[in-house]
Amino acid sequence: MSTAESRTAEVAEDQVVTYEVRGTVAVVTVNRPRYRNAQNSKVTYALDAAFTRAVDDDAVKVIVLAGSGEHFSGGHDIGTPGRDIDETFERRAVIWWDHADKHGVDSRIARESEVYLGMCRRWREIPKPMIAMVQGACIAGGLMLAWSCDFIVASEDAFFSDPVVRMGIPGVEFFAHPWVMSPRAAKEFLFTGDRFDARRAHQLGMVNHVVSREELEPTVFALAERISAMPRFGLALAKKAVNQAEDLQGMRSGMDSVFGLHHAAHSHNAEVGADSLAGMDARAMRESGRSAGGA
Ligand code: ZN
Repeated sequence: MSTAESRTAEVAEDQVVTYEVRGTVAVVTVNRPRYRNAQNSKVTYALDAAFTRAVDDDAVKVIVLAGSGEHFSGGHDIGTPGRDIDETFERRAVIWWDHADKHGVDSRIARESEVYLGMCRRWREIPKPMIAMVQGACIAGGLMLAWSCDFIVASEDAFFSDPVVRMGIPGVEFFAHPWVMSPRAAKEFLFTGDRFDARRAHQLGMVNHVVSREELEPTVFALAERISAMPRFGLALAKKAVNQAEDLQGMRSGMDSVFGLHHAAHSHNAEVGADSLAGMDARAMRESGRSAGGA
């Protein structure tokens, strides 16, 4: 891939993730607006490839993660025609074996270790600053994308929720809740499944800036440009320093322990009912609350 090619915007109808470089900033965009950017595995593997490309390009100083259309991301894909839960994709890092030909807990832990917890953790540790540019819905799996980034800049109409307790599941796989907000706020967030709007999220420290929808992109790019003036290696070390401090506050080991609870819940659902999601698809989640997230 030549430098000139890497600077060309790539947008095609069937591209679920687009990649564009503007100056020193790589813009990675989830592109399934018709489905509120629901994340199937095709999306997560495409995000992984796009982030790797941005990390490997020395001209890129900052990565912006965006969602096309009205919403950042409505969560994991639990019901669109493009749901691809049983498919095999080429794995970049060895975390577990391929899930596709396995069954039950064997399959679920393999898949979720790879595409949910594993990828989000690797993305959080990407050695370049990442800014999530969030508008509209940021629900369940959408939180995992935004929380993997270093900053969140949100428009006034953005809202955040993790409604998966309705499925009997204690939150999404990348369980950052008590670290991105206070533990009491995290409990309210989980226990009610309520939407926290951008201002509430800002008050809780989860969001860095709240601006109008028109100001969202200019604000993100102005911030990215200021960060780009810093030396690449200094930024990488500063990011690692803060992440290490978070991990020393228990984030990494806390997530590991909650991942076990998460899979106890999936297994319980499968044992006593129809499936690991307590029989709930996107429509059922919407009807039981006001959200369409997935687990
Ligand atoms: Zn899960």
